Amino acid sequence: MSNCAIVGVNWGDEGKGRMVDLLTEDFDVVVRYQGGGNAGHTVINDKGKFALHLLPSGIFREGVVNVLGNGVALDPENLWNEIEETRAKGVSITPDNLKISSRASLLMPWHRLLDELEEARLKDKKFGSTKQGIAPFYSDKYQKKTVLAGELMYPERLAAHIRDLAEWKNLIISSVYGAPEYTEEAINEWLGDYCEKIKPFICDTGEFLSEAAGSGKRILFEAQLGSLRDIDFGIHPFTTSSNTLAAYAPIGSGCPSLKIGSVIGVVKAYSTCVGEGPFVCEMFGDEAEKLRKEGFEYGAKTGRPRRVGPIDLVATRYGALLQGASEIALTKLDVLSYMDRIPVCAHYELDGEIVDSFPFPAALDRAKPVIEYLDGWGTDISKARSFDELPEAAKEYVLYVQRAIGVPITYVSVGPERESIIIRK
Ligand code: GDP
Repeated sequence: MSNCAIVGVNWGDEGKGRMVDLLTEDFDVVVRYQGGGNAGHTVINDKGKFALHLLPSGIFREGVVNVLGNGVALDPENLWNEIEETRAKGVSITPDNLKISSRASLLMPWHRLLDELEEARLKDKKFGSTKQGIAPFYSDKYQKKTVLAGELMYPERLAAHIRDLAEWKNLIISSVYGAPEYTEEAINEWLGDYCEKIKPFICDTGEFLSEAAGSGKRILFEAQLGSLRDIDFGIHPFTTSSNTLAAYAPIGSGCPSLKIGSVIGVVKAYSTCVGEGPFVCEMFGDEAEKLRKEGFEYGAKTGRPRRVGPIDLVATRYGALLQGASEIALTKLDVLSYMDRIPVCAHYELDGEIVDSFPFPAALDRAKPVIEYLDGWGTDISKARSFDELPEAAKEYVLYVQRAIGVPITYVSVGPERESIIIRK
């Protein structure tokens, strides 16, 4: 099997974690290449239930090496806490199975603070940030005002660099937001409590990946969030601050020349969206509450109720195209089993016209969903392990979605557990 990327096709929370957990068996290396602790993968396996935010989902498989590439927002505090929590459930995490890129920028304590201060300033115009400091982090990264993880190995240079950055950040914190400045003690405490702990995992991941690829090792790239949150092609400005697309994986992992053989686009059987921004297919009222409850759609990081709707074929087709998806994993089909008839957002209506291509972000507020209905199947499908075991109406739903996206659906997930999967290839 060639290198593979598992990516989100929609707004995130599609169930990428369970797909990575399933497929890590076939891979030697799992790489996270973008994003930070602002979203979570939920993985349920023989060791328990885990909400991973930064750790790659291959961490549970013995023999798999996990990499945090240069494209991630490396938050030492969150990462260390996650390592400790995961270890406490019996998972071994050592420099042999976790490697952090020396070129990853560190998410500093002030990034989280600035995120909070800015969301508070915006009041009702807020973006719905998870307040994990991701936007301030990436802004600083592209201003070249971050510290690279590898600098932890150069203490003198590091101290001077952090002093310069703190001086600049404190100006903004105090004069723009009127908040208390960071002291040198607070920063030293953070360095000692968290940065020192992650130091043993830091290395040149580019060299590691290039050697791994050269010796025939199979690499799995794991993305966070989904196409519609991509900074360049998503629902700007309600996107995340990084590129969520498969095309960015080789760059964000540390080895730009790596090739990706297959891209598995993960699509949920219905839609969910966290935070603010246009969400054309949104359902409201009791219908939404029921779907939210059935799908347990509450944020992995924040516990916030997610906005829900039927599958949005216009957005999904666009998302799959952006990802260059060669196959689709359709997740959470079991959640729809309670519905007598299943709504799908088949088209948009924009200024009186039916459209099938995803509108420019500024036009999205004017788009209305065109809903069609498919037959429900009215029975539990969570035990189905082959396509033929599914009721006719469930099969028809899968085939309808496949036709609409134009990419083969090779996996149908019917439950959160590793084995609750139908493989169609
Ligand atoms: P990710 O960020 O894309 O990994 O998405 P989440 O962590 O939000 O995963 C979606 C949630 O749905 C998790 O709680 C999973 O355990 C769960 N899940 C994944 N696939 C299925 C499925 O096919 N059926 C059901 N019922 N739950 C699923």
